This record gives sequence, C-alpha cells and structure tokens, in this order.
Amino acid sequence: MNNTNEPNLQSWIEVQKDSDFPIQNIPFGVIRKKNGKIRCATRIGNYTIDLFELANHGYFNDLGIEDAAFFKKRYLNNFIALGKSSNRLVRARISELFEKGNPAIRESIVEKSAILNHITDVQMMMPVRVGDYTDFYSSLEHATNIGKMFRDPEKALLPNWRHIPVGYHGRSSSIVVSGTDVHRPKGQTKKDDSATPDFGPSKLVDFELEMAFITGKSTQLGDSIPVGEAEDYIFGLVLFNDLSARDIQKWEYVPLGPFLSKNFGSVVSPWIVTLDALEPFRVSGPDQNPQVLPYLRLTGKRNFDINLDVLIEPEGKKATKVCSSNFKYMYWNMCQQLAHQTVNGCNINVGDMYGSGTISGPMPDSFGSMLELTWNGTKPIKLSDGTERKFIEDNDTVIMQGWAEKDGVRIGFGECVTKILPVK
Ligand code: CA
Repeated sequence: MNNTNEPNLQSWIEVQKDSDFPIQNIPFGVIRKKNGKIRCATRIGNYTIDLFELANHGYFNDLGIEDAAFFKKRYLNNFIALGKSSNRLVRARISELFEKGNPAIRESIVEKSAILNHITDVQMMMPVRVGDYTDFYSSLEHATNIGKMFRDPEKALLPNWRHIPVGYHGRSSSIVVSGTDVHRPKGQTKKDDSATPDFGPSKLVDFELEMAFITGKSTQLGDSIPVGEAEDYIFGLVLFNDLSARDIQKWEYVPLGPFLSKNFGSVVSPWIVTLDALEPFRVSGPDQNPQVLPYLRLTGKRNFDINLDVLIEPEGKKATKVCSSNFKYMYWNMCQQLAHQTVNGCNINVGDMYGSGTISGPMPDSFGSMLELTWNGTKPIKLSDGTERKFIEDNDTVIMQGWAEKDGVRIGFGECVTKILPVK
C-alpha cells in the first residue's frame, strides 16, 4: 500500500460519488486543450490537471524532474521512461497538492485557471505511442467457449493452453483512443457451402472485452524478465476493445492466426490507471492445474478485481448492457504473460501494449464478445429499443466501462467508446 491509496483522502476538487476518478486514482493521460496545446495530464473528478503547468509552477522542482518539457509531449512515453520511482513521486505530489487541506493551488485563482480544465473542455488523446502490441488469449472461459463452438466440445481446450499463455503479435498502427469511430472492414469471407471465397463488407463485426497493460521499462535483446519481477515493468492498465471481424477471421486464421480480422481498429480508454492505484484490489487468480513450468510459477495475489461492463447503443437510442465480466477471471495473469513474452530473449520497450485476450466469466451474461453472448448468432440479444443483435450493426456504439470498488473508494477507467461506421 502507499499513502495515495488511503480511503479517507479527499480532494478540494469536487468528486461525485460514482466518479471513476477520486483523488486515490490519479491516472495518466494526454489532453488537447481548447487552445490546441497538448499536455500530459491527470484527472480528479471532472477536472483534468495539466502536468506541464504543475511543473512550470515549480511543484515538481524537488522531485528530480529537471526538464518539464516532456509534459508537453504528444505521448506519455518519456514520462513513463523516467521509471517507477519518479512516476510514484509525481503521483504522490499530485495527491498532496489536491488534498482537501492543501491551500497551495486551491487558493490561487491564477494557478487554478492555468492547471485545471473541465473534462468537457479538452479532447482526450492516445496516451502512449504504442511500439509493439501483443494480444494474449488468457481467459479459460473464453478459450473454452471458442473451442466448444468451433472445434470439439469434448476437447474444447487445445493441449498447450494450460501450459502456455497463448498469444500472437498484433499490429500497433491501428490502436486508437476511445471516441475514434471505426469503419466496418471489407475482406475475404467464405460460406461453409461454397468452394471459393467472396469479397465484401464483414457481416460479423464483434467487440472483444479486454484490458491491456503498458510496459514502463525496457529490456535488452536476450534478457528475460523473471515472473516475480514482472510487475516492476508494468506501468498501468487501460480498457481495450479488440474489434474483430468473425467471418474474415474464420477464413483467414489457418495456419498462422488472425490477420486482417483483428487490425482494422482496436480501441483503448484514454486514462492509464497505475498498478499502484489498483493495489487495494488485488485478488488471487484461479487455481492453475496442472502446475505450470517453473519460469511461470509465482505466489501472491496477482489478479485484480475490476468490474467490466459492455453496452451497445444503437444510433439515437438508449444503451443496453449486454455483458458484465471481471478482470479477476483471467487464468493467466499479467506477470506470467510478460515472463512468457520475454523468456526467449525477446526485448520489450516502454509503451508496448499487451492485451489480456477476451475476458469471459463463468456466467452466460459475463461472456466478453457477441460471438459468445449470442453463441455464434444462434441466441440474439434483445436491446431496450426492441431490436435484436447477433453482432454489431452499422452506427452502433460499443461502450466499455471498468471500475474497482472497495471501502467506499471507486477506482475506474472511464469509458472506452467506439462507433462502428458503415464500410468505407
Ligand atoms: Ca483479442
């Protein structure tokens, strides 16, 4: 635990009871202000806090941060690369400055107007420049559901699944921030009763409810991260909607795995919530049986109790919740994923992103994709406007929400919002 987690802490900035951003959160993101200036920022309640202005006013002078200029950068990478101890000092200082009893900024109209912006007056930007992107497949329930649907219900899990945190290298250029609209992709698909493929718009666009972690420390080629040290390399987490075109995926994925069905847009929530902020929400993961190989073995609470909801909002209509899952269901945890990613000597960089894989829970309403929720379209979901969905339709907006809650403190991620536009 660290002081920033103290449940009794309150800010002089107003925080609504159901806000994802109390003073205990202090996530990091990048904002564009109304005057066009781009700044690294944090958020309390409905106000963003400009980190460049905090540095400019001397509030980080004694923290060993010589150059405030990297808080003006387009991405958080340079700030993250300072290392966990510096990142922690900055979070702790923000906590002090905005604590209810601290008059320093609270009593200065000039400083307040320079530092604070209402959330509706800024545009949220992509928080990091993503170097490499890996997507795992680490939910037992998800892998089992997919195996049941597309292979053998009796042998739903492939033999390697309980031994390897299965993953693939994805594409980073199409990872975009919440609020970015994504066009329905075109591609090759093949009907079961047809010998040759067709070309056209995907008919089966889906979301995948995931979380992604971002690495905050680099390694050299040849290095492996020991599983017990993996958390030192993890800066924080975001919500991650790994949009997928199921019909394109089904035709293309043999033998090398998904390709164009997964890289037409993956969407992240804009605020990176640090592992420090999530510390109070640690829980044990599921039992791993059979025992995993020694390089993946570790003890302690390595999963996090984070509630995850997905809503679908047809254009001009009310949103309907279609899924409630939880990050704690993950069979393979982030430490094991990172240890496995690097066990062969693969080097990692600051700002790399690692998707968890679709996070499905044990209950049918906790499945993390339409593919599973509607069981490959055989059980359509009824929305509150009376229409039905098997997959995502044009102009539907997919909204993901994530939050942890304990002792009256709610640490949230905000929303990850994507509208699916008609094919371009
Ligand atoms: Ca995925």
